[in-house]
Amino acid sequence: MHELPLTKSILEMAIKYAQRTDSRKVVTIVLRLGALRDIKKEWIQHYFNYISKGTIAEDAEILIIPDPIVCRCNDCGKDFEIDRDGYACEEILCPNCSTRNYTLISGTKFQIEGIEVI
Ligand SMILES: [Zn+2]
Repeated sequence: MHELPLTKSILEMAIKYAQRTDSRKVVTIVLRLGALRDIKKEWIQHYFNYISKGTIAEDAEILIIPDPIVCRCNDCGKDFEIDRDGYACEEILCPNCSTRNYTLISGTKFQIEGIEVI
């Protein structure tokens, strides 16, 4: 259940932002979430609704932009995207030169992209 502490940090950031910008209400929070993060989206909204009650961010909607899993081949330099299920198995090869020599460059992000306030 690591969604709860993450959701708390989202709420704190949203409230701070609203205070800093002299806003009355947080409407939307845009979140970028890496596909490799084992986080259940619906739990984030669920926890958020619960812990934001009575705050300036109550009823805010959380929009989640999935961050794809992207690897960069160390041999030919090509970037290629793989799906989450594919990542679990060992047989991923560079589609360009068929090597296994690559580095993960995207897919683990957890960051707030934007906060909409009124
Ligand atoms: Zn390659």
